Amino acid sequence: MYIVQVASECAPVAKVGGLGDVIYGLSRELEVRGHCVEIILPKYDCMRYDQIWGLHEAYQDLWVPWFGGAIHCTVWCGWVHGQICFFIEPHSGENFFNRGHFYGALDDHMRFAFFSKAALQFLLVTNKRPDIIHCHDWETGLLPVMLYEMYAAQGMGDVRICYTIHNFKHQGIAGTNVLWATGLNRESYYFSYDRLQDNFNPLALNYMKGGIVYSNYVTTVSPHHAFEARHSDISCGLGHTLHVHQGKFSGILNGIDYSVWNPELDNYIPYHYDVTDLEGKELNKKALRDRLLLRDEDKPIVCYVGRLDDQKGVHLVHHAMYYALSRGAQFVLLGSATDNKINTWFWNEKHHLNENPDCHLELGYNEELAHLIYAGSDFIIVPSNYEPCGLTQMISLKYGTVPIVRGVGGLVSTVFDRDFDQNLPLEKRNGYVFYQTDKIAVDSAMDRALGLWYVYPEDFEQLRIQGMEYDYSWTIPGQEYIDVYNLIKA
Ligand code: ADP
Repeated sequence: MYIVQVASECAPVAKVGGLGDVIYGLSRELEVRGHCVEIILPKYDCMRYDQIWGLHEAYQDLWVPWFGGAIHCTVWCGWVHGQICFFIEPHSGENFFNRGHFYGALDDHMRFAFFSKAALQFLLVTNKRPDIIHCHDWETGLLPVMLYEMYAAQGMGDVRICYTIHNFKHQGIAGTNVLWATGLNRESYYFSYDRLQDNFNPLALNYMKGGIVYSNYVTTVSPHHAFEARHSDISCGLGHTLHVHQGKFSGILNGIDYSVWNPELDNYIPYHYDVTDLEGKELNKKALRDRLLLRDEDKPIVCYVGRLDDQKGVHLVHHAMYYALSRGAQFVLLGSATDNKINTWFWNEKHHLNENPDCHLELGYNEELAHLIYAGSDFIIVPSNYEPCGLTQMISLKYGTVPIVRGVGGLVSTVFDRDFDQNLPLEKRNGYVFYQTDKIAVDSAMDRALGLWYVYPEDFEQLRIQGMEYDYSWTIPGQEYIDVYNLIKA
């Protein structure tokens, strides 16, 4: 099969969170299985260009219709750790992708509507006719709409779309101007409840809703989250739309790319180890302490790696930090916040804890340090308010770092409580789960986890090993996506 992924991220060149990991990992898995995969991305100025091999101009004169005129683009081609990628570079006054950051501009809805249109236009003029376009999140929600309403009639009628929702919180809300920009035009047609009209604001268009309505198949990133999305308010107003389209909607758990996240081969960690020999894990713990100037004492290390925002339960992350310290553990945090208030809050904490030899807060994005933290820690805390899939707990399991998570979304499908999970025998359980969003819930799960570390070290080692034995690679989800592609293929 010929599959084109259209997305706003791909690890490690353009990664903000899990979406980037998924685009790279899934593409690689599909290629290993013999399919032809191409990835289309915006050519951001802030990409990691050092991670692209052989970057060259592949198509110089792409003219993308926009607001009655056209924007001239260059399409670049290069290989990101073996995966072929096309990067779209528009030459216009708006400087859509030269903003120094990936998201967060006031005209994001225009930037990514343009990107979606440019990706289709590129496929059209180069005569590329993939069996499947797989697009992701609100940024590419208009792509299925434009394919069906405009490009199908120009010879792309056999192309089918799989649309994956990684986070319902951001849906791409815009006004009529995007219809005029993209050439979709007919306002009254698109502003209808069964097409793109937002379910709550009748004056707004909703890209993600368009993606759901117009795609041949829609997935979200774990079966449990698919259930939550249909039956709770976690889908932020799209529950009814999902209900209407339930016949083409399901959840497929994300995988982890074990060629990137694997303590046996990881180039970012000083000592390799595996489930049969955990000595390297101890040495990495020491290396982590050295790197972050933590004191070297016989204590457990609890970590947090992830974005610092409301979704991730920041108030509970903050609480867990002090609770871990009060229980004699060390705490390491790596996170970045886009919200100013949260950013200031954690910078203040960082200054406050600066002299504490048992705590380190690293505020910012640091891929390399993330690997060392996973390898050197004993526990990771993931107290998310909601979590469509969550990769950090799955990465941690592979690195022998025991997850303590809130039982929502993909966390439910991947972490099984050592003490209370009734559905699995003890030797299959791999972490700790709590359900409430209050501090007491965190304390009690952390008490159980730290208690095991302090009092029953052999049982703790066994729990670590059980986690490492889980296979959360792309093998199963890769096949599930292929099944979906086969189902919808023309
Ligand atoms: P989300 O996609 O909601 O941000 P996930 O758990 O699905 O969360 O994926 C997070 C990914 O981003 C993981 O690969 C994690 O290691 C990485 N990550 C998150 N924050 C940082 C950071 N500050 N520095 C380095 N890597 C980070």
